[in-house]
Amino acid sequence: MENYLAELNDAQRAPVLQKDGPMIVIAGAGSGKTRVLTYRIAYLMSKGVDPFNILSLTFTNKAAREMKSRISKIVGSSEAKNLWMGTFHSIFAKILRFEADKLGYPSNFTIYDTQDSQRLISAIIKELGLDKDVYKYKQVYSKISSYKNSLITVKAYFQNGELQEADAMAKRPRLGEIYQHYVDRCFKAGAMDFDDLLLKTNELITRFPEVLAKYQNRFRYILVDEYQDTNHSQYLIVRALSDKFQNICVVGDDAQSIYAFRGANINNILNFQRDYDNVEMYRLEQNYRSTKNIVEAANSIIDKNKTKLEKVVWTANDEGPKIIVNRLLTDGEEGRYVASSIFENRMEHQMKNGDFAILYRTNAQSRAMEDALRKRDIPYRIFGGLSFYQRKEIKDVLSYLRLLVNPKDEEALKRVINYPARGIGATTMDKLVLAANHYKRSIFEVIDNISKIDLKINSGTRNKLTNFANMIKSFQVMAQKEDAFSVAEAIAKKTGLIQELKKDGTPEGIARIENIEELLNGIKDFVEEQKELADAEGSLAEFLEDVALATDMDKATEDEDRVALMTIHLAKGLEYPYVYIVGLEEDLFPSGMSMNTRSELEEERRLFYVALTRAEKKAYLTYTQSRYRWGKLIDAEPSRFIEEIDDQYKEYMIPQDDYKYKPLIDSDVFGEVDKSRLRQTKPKKGTPPLAHKPSEEQLRKLRKLRPESSANSAKASSEALKLETGQMVEHMRFGKGTIIGIEGVGQDKKAEIDFENGGLKKLLLRFAKLKLL
Ligand code: ATP
Ligand code: MG
Repeated sequence: MENYLAELNDAQRAPVLQKDGPMIVIAGAGSGKTRVLTYRIAYLMSKGVDPFNILSLTFTNKAAREMKSRISKIVGSSEAKNLWMGTFHSIFAKILRFEADKLGYPSNFTIYDTQDSQRLISAIIKELGLDKDVYKYKQVYSKISSYKNSLITVKAYFQNGELQEADAMAKRPRLGEIYQHYVDRCFKAGAMDFDDLLLKTNELITRFPEVLAKYQNRFRYILVDEYQDTNHSQYLIVRALSDKFQNICVVGDDAQSIYAFRGANINNILNFQRDYDNVEMYRLEQNYRSTKNIVEAANSIIDKNKTKLEKVVWTANDEGPKIIVNRLLTDGEEGRYVASSIFENRMEHQMKNGDFAILYRTNAQSRAMEDALRKRDIPYRIFGGLSFYQRKEIKDVLSYLRLLVNPKDEEALKRVINYPARGIGATTMDKLVLAANHYKRSIFEVIDNISKIDLKINSGTRNKLTNFANMIKSFQVMAQKEDAFSVAEAIAKKTGLIQELKKDGTPEGIARIENIEELLNGIKDFVEEQKELADAEGSLAEFLEDVALATDMDKATEDEDRVALMTIHLAKGLEYPYVYIVGLEEDLFPSGMSMNTRSELEEERRLFYVALTRAEKKAYLTYTQSRYRWGKLIDAEPSRFIEEIDDQYKEYMIPQDDYKYKPLIDSDVFGEVDKSRLRQTKPKKGTPPLAHKPSEEQLRKLRKLRPESSANSAKASSEALKLETGQMVEHMRFGKGTIIGIEGVGQDKKAEIDFENGGLKKLLLRFAKLKLL
């Protein structure tokens, strides 16, 4: 064990060393709150607390993994493995699975993702014959979601005249009815949606005191990161679980509370001292993340908010460069500016792509950024877009898997019953849904008993339905004997999914097949990984749970060297040397929808504070003069937030208005020119800035930096079979590691690898995507 306590300052050490009792750490961005939680867990374990008794709740599963890996280094990985760490959703999904029968759910319940939920709601709206332009399924979904997060059940809804009146006023008097149907259908399908994972946990611990007692005794020490963003439902769970031992440590920053729109309640942090006896309150003041300039600029911003806890944040770090503010004509130009600035910083300061983040207020803004990055051959990755697991072909395969784990899963069944086409049309489906509702059974049960039910379905179709049910059942039998990978592979082949895509023959079709292969690789990895773990068996159900709860932040490719693009909401807790905050325009950021009240505006300002405090070395703010919004080109005005940063911390770099852009250098290599440079070098028209031209050396570097084309991947997998003990490799998910043993021959060759982040893993070389270092 290293002397890890020396890696904390005095203020940080205090909450780490207080072993028992309730405590809260309130501190500004970058002051080491997450580090305190991590080291506190290590400390508890060093004092003999059993890791089984520690529960730690984080904002993303990725954050949990990072904390776990740091703790493993301090206390050893075999102990750290037993810690319960993860998001509220992933932790409580596990508990619910264990206790499902008490709530009348099967233990293999499906988790509906947002898309499943929305599809179901949309189907219900249609079945009820409601106008889909009035009852917009996305709005209905978010309304139901907000009810669930405030613990308003269907019953409570119908007892609450005010809520019903409000929905009626909003011209949606039948919202309660949709809610009712939705809940019934989920239950019948053996499915929980994301909000249920919290709602049902609350139900479980209120209705079954013995269950609550069990988990209270189990989780003697509870830790919560980003406490400012817990919603009411999460708050109640934490409150109840910690009630017996009161060993609860929460950390947060009221200035970074940015999820009020999803029900997060900042009062949870403000009332903490009232909820527990003898609360110790700790403050951290030194920021280790950012330059002086960034820290002070961020302070000057948050100062403008009235509702806040007074805090000091300072740093001993360098002064650093000023924040660059730039105005561009359009979003296209904005993208080009950001891309060329990244390009230059990367060259000048020898940075990696992964050192840069582009943050925006709305997802739609990513497109212009992507276009520009692609033109410059700068690899990037969008967090929070359509995640891998939500792509159509992937969801198709996953739906088959879901169906055989839980045949009641209605959304899964609807996806695959006629894909690939097997002559079961929409009319038949409608009849099946009606019958299922009538007999209060799942659709699969209806199909499985089709011969016994009086339905107007012809014998040809009946046969098709029976064949489908038999196919699913044969996969079920297989799943009892074989691991998740073999089953998934059989599904991809035997259902005709792959053939269907092969027939298609277009580049998109081929890309889809590759994605399915990638999914199979992922399942293989999962199976191999789980085999290594003590209490897991690599079952299909476990894999599906992992997938359902994988936020896009957790994606496997996280350590590929790419520029990160994401909304500010997703950037919480993260840090990057260079941060570009784009689209700083009134109506966009602050959002036009959030300027009606002071509290909404203050939330936008906190969002800006979060964005700025992600930057370690340098921050850039950009805005455009005109932007397409709602299909119209509108004149944009610079965001008030730019103005609010004290002048001494920022530097304007605005191109001359009359300057007309002309490419001055080989645009194949450099794309277009960074105009800010032109301004700096005060070009006379027609004189190319020679200093800008790349040297031969730079060009060589540049060519080397180009990402490898995917054509190399087949070569890579045969290369992988040649790996030997002692070599250093890099894995997409587990990071860098050393091969400590090889076993098996040919296609079955496996390597045992000690990963810096993931501990010891055995991987099948044929599938594992390893890079030799
Ligand atoms: P946020 O509010 O953004 O979540 P935070 O308060 O959780 O920030 P951390 O992420 O824990 O802050 O720490 C910020 C950075 O400072 C991290 O890179 C961390 O490793 C580093 N750091 C924290 N404390 C120390 C310390 N005592 N010595 C050196 N580095 C530190
Ligand atoms: Mg943090």
